[in-house]
Amino acid sequence: MSFDLARALRPEVQALTAYHAGTAPAGRPVKLDANESPFLLGEAIRGELAAALASVELHRYPDPEARELKALLARELGVPAEQILATNGSDEGIQLLLLAAMGPVLAPVPTFVMYELGARALGRGFTGVPLTAEFRFELSAFLAELERMRPTLVFLAWPNNPTGGLIEEAAVEAILQACAGGVCHALVVVDEAYTQYSGRTVLPWLGRYPNLVILRTLSKIGLAGIRLGMLVAEPSLVVEINKIRPPYNVNALSQAAARVVLGHGEVVARHAATIVAERERVLAALADLPGATAFPSQANFFLVRTALPGDRVFQGLVERGILVRNFSRAPYLADCLRVTIGTPEENDAFLAALRAVLEAGR
Ligand code: PMP
Repeated sequence: MSFDLARALRPEVQALTAYHAGTAPAGRPVKLDANESPFLLGEAIRGELAAALASVELHRYPDPEARELKALLARELGVPAEQILATNGSDEGIQLLLLAAMGPVLAPVPTFVMYELGARALGRGFTGVPLTAEFRFELSAFLAELERMRPTLVFLAWPNNPTGGLIEEAAVEAILQACAGGVCHALVVVDEAYTQYSGRTVLPWLGRYPNLVILRTLSKIGLAGIRLGMLVAEPSLVVEINKIRPPYNVNALSQAAARVVLGHGEVVARHAATIVAERERVLAALADLPGATAFPSQANFFLVRTALPGDRVFQGLVERGILVRNFSRAPYLADCLRVTIGTPEENDAFLAALRAVLEAGR
């Protein structure tokens, strides 16, 4: 047999590099690499979860429309259920939008890599508009690129991953307007994965902009393991995207688990408040640390640029039992590490380890 796989697969796919979520080193490092919540749900909620999961009829397919779950989400978000599509993580929402949209894709960069990876996998053009050297968003540069590219899909991670910054609301509105027929006809995806940590949302704009799509996820607030995201948009747009959603995309266990945890919003809010306070405490501590420049963040992580080579600092942290995300070799992110906010003890461990690595390297 002389089967040639390269002839069977699309060249766009072969040209890609797989998304690499990072591999945890041996042992149990302090895990600050994936923007997860550091808090396990309390025992009482886990008890409730166990009962709810035990009663799921696993021999049946899940509710294909996730109706009960969507009703809860609708109440939580204050929008009608017809405006919500439940997805297998917001990653799936991103993929569905890319599948549905017609033409080129535009986003500020650096940003969440799945926008570009997904676009390229489908053979869509992707253009990144660079943030400034300090990772600030420049509206004029973005609008100029909109005019030139006339994309059909724009992604704004709000706040942005991995930089942690938040584009000003007025700039988001200017982009929505330009994309609603002013300059081009594009869906503008405001990815609110970290909304609990920014305290900001554009949900109230839904009636105003027919091209607005909001992505949300439960991954960053303690439920990364169940893979539940949602897309929120005008009902007519939700109807279209729903056509290409795989049936049963949100499994029965995840639907049941989410229903339990959504009933405990006060716990999620308390954890988020702790993380926001910790973020500010860690950033204040880093402001006094020579050899590290941390960037302001509205998320549950922050980016730090080190004076020593980033790879060395990353390795030094690993040797001290701390795992962060190494972006040192990524475009625009030379010597940058992304650090997720953990528990107060984990954050202290990170600060001590970083101080030690930087001092040892001097
Ligand atoms: N959007 C952004 C901006 C993210 O940072 C992430 C997680 N890395 C996602 C979407 C994907 O989240 P989910 O776990 O819901 O697929």
